[in-house]
Amino acid sequence: MDCVLLTHADCLGHQPGERHPEAPARLTAVLDGIAAAGLLRTWQRIDAPRVTREQLERVHHPAYLDEVENVAPASGLHRLDADTVMSPGSLAAASRAAGAVVHAVDLVMGGRTRSVFCATRPPGHHARAGDAMGFCIYGNVAVGMAHALAAHGIERVAVADFDVHRGNGTESMFRREPRVLMADSFQHPYYPQGNFPERAGYLPMRLAAGDGSDAFRRHWTQNALPALRAFKPQIVFISAGFDAHRDDPLANIQLEAADYRWLTHALRDIAEASGKGRIISTLEGGYGLGNIGAAVAAHLMALGDCSR
Ligand SMILES: [Zn+2]
Repeated sequence: MDCVLLTHADCLGHQPGERHPEAPARLTAVLDGIAAAGLLRTWQRIDAPRVTREQLERVHHPAYLDEVENVAPASGLHRLDADTVMSPGSLAAASRAAGAVVHAVDLVMGGRTRSVFCATRPPGHHARAGDAMGFCIYGNVAVGMAHALAAHGIERVAVADFDVHRGNGTESMFRREPRVLMADSFQHPYYPQGNFPERAGYLPMRLAAGDGSDAFRRHWTQNALPALRAFKPQIVFISAGFDAHRDDPLANIQLEAADYRWLTHALRDIAEASGKGRIISTLEGGYGLGNIGAAVAAHLMALGDCSR
């Protein structure tokens, strides 16, 4: 059974400005890294569909969705918040990024594949129900998770977020949802600032600036992986940000590509134990154009049962 790589040329059309780190070149580097690793022999590339309004409204307020559509510029740039900028191509890119995760759910639930990677942008895990935030317009992984719960009757969804920034948007959208367990490792204190809830259903793991593989693996091994396994998720989602890499320009964690492969193997084992192997990963951050391709390739080598 092939693994599936969902992406779309529209995702290159989101152009938040010359010096913005969330640049189209990131996606090009990711796709080049996947190809260079020989993964296109086992990963079938499919165009991501657009998301529907109904799918977005499961996690976003209608007024916010109206606002995003109304302010989308026909030319020039429009700033949604301090970091989140829309260009003329942004709405289409965001629609494909959220639509990819929804389609991934339909593919794994339909038995078409077990492993999906969504190579899309803009990222999504900071977007909140009623606000854009931190380069994110729609909560891509949250939209997919809500689709699994609402359209497929899934009762236990796990999401693992290893982006260097806390997945505050995803966390806030499922705060009162007992069917979701989220494990989230992030540099702290760092963006986004502020306190966060200590609550059932959310497993925060704080990494200090300068931490590397040992601390990262210890947190996941001691705290998150046993809890995720005990939760018996029927489907595992990954918010795959690669900005905790040692060569990333935005943060101060010292991970190597091998760390992504290690954690992904562990998450895949959990998906196989209770979720028929169903695992869906979507690209979040990662801003080092020289390292993100190899990091994503390492992630995919563990994500797909076809390449173990
Ligand atoms: Zn990030």
